[in-house]
Amino acid sequence: MTNTQTLEISISGMDCAECTQHVQHAIEKLPGVQSVNVFLGTEKAIVQLDPTQVDMPTIRSAVQGAGYDVPASDSPKPAPVSMGDFNRKLTIMLVSVFTTILSVVIFGEVLGLFDLLNERVPFLLGLVLVLAGGYPVFMNVIRATLKRQIISHTLMTLGVLAALAVGQWVTAALVVVFMRIGDYVENFTTESARRAVKELTSLAPQTARVEQMGLEIELPIAQVKVGDIVIVRPGEKIAVDGEVISGQATVDQSAITGESMPVEAASGTHVYAATIAKLGSLRIRTDRIGVDTTFGRVVKMVEEAEAHRANVQRIADKFSAWYLPVVAVIAALTFLFTRNPLSTAAVLLVACSCSFALATPVAMLASIGASAKRGLLIKGGKYLELLARADVLLVDKTGTLTLGQPQVTDVISLNGLSRTEILSIAASAERYSEHPLAEAVRRLAREENISLIEPKDFESVPGQGVRAVIDARRIAIGNRRMIPAAETLAMTADLEAQGKTLLFMESNTELVGVFAASDTLRSEVPAALKEVRTLGIRHIELLTGDNERTASALAEKLGVSYRANLLPENKINIVKEYQAKGHVVVMIGDGVNDAPALAQADIGIAMGAAGTDVAIEAAHIALMREDWNLVPDVLKIAKRTMRIVKTNLAFTMIYNVFGLSLAAFGILPPVLAAAAQSLPDIGIMGNSARLLKQK
Ligand code: ADP
Ligand code: MG
Repeated sequence: MTNTQTLEISISGMDCAECTQHVQHAIEKLPGVQSVNVFLGTEKAIVQLDPTQVDMPTIRSAVQGAGYDVPASDSPKPAPVSMGDFNRKLTIMLVSVFTTILSVVIFGEVLGLFDLLNERVPFLLGLVLVLAGGYPVFMNVIRATLKRQIISHTLMTLGVLAALAVGQWVTAALVVVFMRIGDYVENFTTESARRAVKELTSLAPQTARVEQMGLEIELPIAQVKVGDIVIVRPGEKIAVDGEVISGQATVDQSAITGESMPVEAASGTHVYAATIAKLGSLRIRTDRIGVDTTFGRVVKMVEEAEAHRANVQRIADKFSAWYLPVVAVIAALTFLFTRNPLSTAAVLLVACSCSFALATPVAMLASIGASAKRGLLIKGGKYLELLARADVLLVDKTGTLTLGQPQVTDVISLNGLSRTEILSIAASAERYSEHPLAEAVRRLAREENISLIEPKDFESVPGQGVRAVIDARRIAIGNRRMIPAAETLAMTADLEAQGKTLLFMESNTELVGVFAASDTLRSEVPAALKEVRTLGIRHIELLTGDNERTASALAEKLGVSYRANLLPENKINIVKEYQAKGHVVVMIGDGVNDAPALAQADIGIAMGAAGTDVAIEAAHIALMREDWNLVPDVLKIAKRTMRIVKTNLAFTMIYNVFGLSLAAFGILPPVLAAAAQSLPDIGIMGNSARLLKQK
């Protein structure tokens, strides 16, 4: 038997997308390592390994060997850059790059100042300047070369050498300066990708005020235990997930649901970590702490979203790996044909492979991070990419289109039992079912003060109903699939035409009662579905375990297709059926009994996932509040993100093609090539930052 352990390791020094690949390879080739996932956004690696074969020090030295580091676990993480800060820095960078380009053109090329300096200052002094300025870069290149890696600095260093070879030390020195500036910009680009995720992480509560022996003690979150009583004062952040045991407050849950309207919390209410008690104080019994809380899970999913890469990113990564050798070849050809070392140098200097690799993640991470803050948990760029071209929407009915809180409207006795008797038996049989219809039956019994009997041999049949023994009678409650005898009942058509769901009850194989329940359609559904149709969705279909007539009544009202009488496994098959026809299928469900169909869909969306772990786990996208407006929203976000990814890539591509051609034909001088090198990065940053501002 093999031993497997999963380690989460912080990695520092990764300031470029190609770095993740270096770290990945370094760890991957260690014996005993089963899988490695390196995350640029959160600066960590998740490694599955056999602890008997490989240990932490070995991994650390492998990472260090590749030129990166594993910081001590308690070293503080830098605070996120604020939006204002970011915009200012971006503007400064853009202005400085343009000013330098302009000055290089005017002073260097037009006034010929560089040539003058070159002639007057001794070459040896210039060489010293170049070496001093470019020392860290050259060391990087030497280290990489020793490991037989070609990095983008390698090509640029060749460019510097070419300039020195023709005695142009001023060019070489300026190039070195621009290389350092380029590194800074690139670093900042990567950092800007991390920003949205870090901003989210920074909302996590750090301490909790815990009641201990009548005293209130402020403890770091890690020391709080399940069952502890946590006190929250007005204006404070709730530190744990738990149940309110006393007090009253209005709670701002926007950190989780994105909804800024506060909700009321009082004894018995479930509250979530990272939400804020606005008015009033609460005493909370801790259920979950830290990463186990709903907020903790959201953060974890967002942090790991990088693992679910979009296809465009895979392609861009492959392309950027090929790009450096291709540039080397173009440089060689340029030299062969032009015999001009300066043109060759310009070719080597203009190329910036990192921009290809950064174009996608910078946009994706911005989008995913910003979405999480408004109650849309997206588990990876892959799902945004798929969602942007989705054309079929399958929707579960109960709890998704409807409020999921059906009311029993009619209780019909078929052979002489009293209303009270029927209700008592039904509610007892449904006692342990979690289905909303069971809840509706129990609620009515409670309202009418009907006492329940403890059921024996309880059995729940998904998509059909329940069976139990009550007072030695074998009771079955459910739909026609469960109670075939109901097929011949005539009086049901009317109720079903009103969109009501019927439950039939059998006692020892005799049909004894019928219940009709109606569930309310969520008010925002019609408008949301209408908008969804303008966003690439051609076909909408209602999938339900409910009966034909109830389903058709609702489907007609919404103007969508439907399929009724479905078992959970039928829903999976319908998803597969559409996929087989080449459609990209979105499935929306409550995430509880639809989990398998959600997982099968190209994009499974769970509705109202706050507090339901299954939904967060099973879905690809989780809507943290029950609000259909989030559905067209997430479609729009997906399309917008993909548009920005594409413009990022197109911009980088055009820049490189133009740059390389101008350089090869000797039109672009090396200094200018080096100075312009940061333009794609700045472009990507500015373009992607638009995604942080979601309406
Ligand atoms: P949906 O697809 O609309 O979410 P489900 O698959 O959960 O519906 O259930 C399908 C049908 O099975 C219900 O409409 C109901 O008739 C019956 N059913 C399921 N669970 C129960 C239950 N606990 N008690 C009675 N009927 C049930
Ligand atoms: Mg359901």
